[in-house]
Amino acid sequence: MDQMKIGRFIAERRKQCGYTQVQLAEKLNITDRAVSKWETGRSMPDSALMPALCELLHITLNDLFNGEVIEMEDYKKKSEELIIEMAKQKEDADKKLLSLEILIGVLASLVLIGMIALASFVNMPDWLRICLIVAGFVPFIIAMIYAIKIEQTAGYYECAECGHKHVPSFRSVLFAPHVGRTRRMTCPKCHRKSWQKKVLNK
Ligand SMILES: [Zn+2]
Repeated sequence: MDQMKIGRFIAERRKQCGYTQVQLAEKLNITDRAVSKWETGRSMPDSALMPALCELLHITLNDLFNGEVIEMEDYKKKSEELIIEMAKQKEDADKKLLSLEILIGVLASLVLIGMIALASFVNMPDWLRICLIVAGFVPFIIAMIYAIKIEQTAGYYECAECGHKHVPSFRSVLFAPHVGRTRRMTCPKCHRKSWQKKVLNK
């Protein structure tokens, strides 16, 4: 909060509304010294006085704190820009996560295939073959759980019946039959089962 700016703003609005410092002070039941202190940025109006002061100066509390009149249009535009920006950031992050999912899946599959190939074609005792295959499955299973976790949280699933977009629970994603990233799940809104597509924006 810029006290000097607020002070200048109060002085400017007071003059525009046609009050002297004394007149404004009288209307608020305070001394003109107090008004002078606000206007020179030496003190802020008491919070109990703020609503009455704003009413006299035809401004909002928001204007008072900002030290300027905030146009409603600007206000709306600024908050809309912020929301769009935030949605875009999430979309980009989700996109990266989903690419990471593919990479994790490919790497884990390669490890598994490598271990199985090794166990199948290289001469070794049977216990070692079994150990190799098990060792190949461990990173594979961990990677799959991680990948499903990414798929569950990145973006949304869109119900094919009603178009509702939602983030399902890990459990329902894990047990849902799927083709690629499209999964057959129950919609939390219309409670119908459908093949739900992965979408990035809400
Ligand atoms: Zn639905």
